[in-house]
Amino acid sequence: MTVVDDYSEGKRENLHEDAEFVQGSILDLDLLKSAFRNADCIFHTAAWARVPRSIEDPIGTHNVNVNGTLNVLQAARESNVRRIVYSSSSSVYGDQETHVMSEDMNLRPMSPYALHKLIGEQYATLFASLFDLSIVSLRYFNVFGPRQVTEGAYALVIGKFLAQKRVGEPLTVYGDGEQTRAYTFVTDVVRANILSAEADLPSGENLILNIGTSKETSVNEIAQTIGGEIEHITPNPRGEFEERRKVADYAKAKAVIGWEPYVTFEEGLKIVLDLS
Ligand code: UDP
Repeated sequence: MTVVDDYSEGKRENLHEDAEFVQGSILDLDLLKSAFRNADCIFHTAAWARVPRSIEDPIGTHNVNVNGTLNVLQAARESNVRRIVYSSSSSVYGDQETHVMSEDMNLRPMSPYALHKLIGEQYATLFASLFDLSIVSLRYFNVFGPRQVTEGAYALVIGKFLAQKRVGEPLTVYGDGEQTRAYTFVTDVVRANILSAEADLPSGENLILNIGTSKETSVNEIAQTIGGEIEHITPNPRGEFEERRKVADYAKAKAVIGWEPYVTFEEGLKIVLDLS
């Protein structure tokens, strides 16, 4: 296994000891071409993540997320890899009539980040058909788990609340806190990647799958489980960019690659709390 990372977001201590490591960016096409030589499968997880950051810096995030993805696809194509697994995002759905997202819905990206992920999927579909590649795009729903980022402006809610609790600050619940997500544990997401890499799939196609639980959890429930003082920030600083309710219909992932979530939100949060 070879890992390419520029450490703009990742940390060296998270690197597996058996992994070969190439320090560099997905913006460096030559570096990707050389790293992908003899590769069987590429897991494309690199991105400048976070919706708020993409709203602040749409051009910088577009450059990494869209142009970087195009580089990955081009380098993978030239290396004749058997499979590409692309980390997409449930943010591509935006607000829908229902809170249960399924892959065939009309997509309404509500932020540059969501649009970048959708453009990546569309490039993947085009490259699969033009160059006979086999690609799986995984739309992740709110991934959480050990070693998640807890500091900085772009930390996800669970990591942020843990950091606030640690220093004795109130947990900052945005708006009424009744907005819901499908919090999905990292080991389930890893297994989705492995199943996607190993599945017997036709070439020339980009298979798009939801990877998320069907259980709705509100911010208030997270705050109550973590415990401590709560401060409601009103109005919600995310304003109109906030999706109100969102969970996954994962029937397609179950049918095609045999994936379903094993770890509940409560079990996952307990693992994170025990380790923190
Ligand atoms: N959230 C919150 N307080 C915070 C940060 C986030 O209440 O300090 C809420 C946010 O409004 C959203 C949910 O937590 O409904 C998940 O936010 P996160 O940034 O983790 O992921 P997102 O779903 O926005 O990608």
